[in-house]
Amino acid sequence: MHLFHEMMFFGSFVILLFAILTLVLYKIKYWGQKELRDKYNFASKYEIKYHQTMHILIAVAIGMHLNSLKPELIHDGGIVHEDGFILFFIRLAITIIAGTIYGYIASLILKFYYPTRLSRKLKRLRYTPRINPKTGNKMQLLSEDEEDVYLDEGQRAEEDAFSIDYDVWIDQATGDTTVEKYSGHLTALKCDRCNFMTLKMEREELIKESTEFEEGELIQHYKCTYCNRIKRQSKTIAKIGTSVKVPDRPQFVNPLSDHSVEAVKIEIHGSNGKVKDYQFQNTHEASKLLEEFDFNKVDD
Ligand SMILES: [Zn+2]
Repeated sequence: MHLFHEMMFFGSFVILLFAILTLVLYKIKYWGQKELRDKYNFASKYEIKYHQTMHILIAVAIGMHLNSLKPELIHDGGIVHEDGFILFFIRLAITIIAGTIYGYIASLILKFYYPTRLSRKLKRLRYTPRINPKTGNKMQLLSEDEEDVYLDEGQRAEEDAFSIDYDVWIDQATGDTTVEKYSGHLTALKCDRCNFMTLKMEREELIKESTEFEEGELIQHYKCTYCNRIKRQSKTIAKIGTSVKVPDRPQFVNPLSDHSVEAVKIEIHGSNGKVKDYQFQNTHEASKLLEEFDFNKVDD
């Protein structure tokens, strides 16, 4: 019995030490992430999990420590009192309840209060202006509409259908861009009824697939884990192929009949910044050029 109390007493400090180490380990790993984007993805995935582990360990430590208190009620120099065993089990029950209450309160805080705090931190990580490593210039974040041009077809499809978010940062001076990938599924949204960050997407339902000619439709089903609010949101999926910025072969449909045209001027702007201009006497010549045109073929 003497040994039991000693184990509970010292054990509680060992477990508490592990709890602190859990938090320290998280901080080390977090600061080890090089880019802000990596910090964001790491924090959104692991911050709450590490805190959960830490609080479970603290709850165990509290329970163990309480079990080491008042040993004189139970035994005297290793000899257990008459009602010592009953008191032992009463104390054990009380400490289990105390540990559980601590764990329960901690889990409520982590579930309902902490996400709001985490989300503020994540926003800061995500929207702090990036620096162009080549020039040292501050870059600008493009809006959802502007960024599409810099994403390939696959990335746009991901954005539309699978809730993966891409952020595109541009250096206005040089035109350099960086694309950052974020997993949209990980973060819950703010519930518009209870205001907690607990609105989570449960599933996505494909209503209509997009084709070359028509936009598709997708319904996202959300549920609040706090107040159980159900929310549906409809999203359109871009037409297949519309994300291609520069068609390999520009389509040229002649909107004019040839005899009303005196001259055709064509200015072609490449994504590489090159500009070429041409002049023709009729649309037929002009359309022939467009059919043949390739930036790789023209010399500077
Ligand atoms: Zn809610």
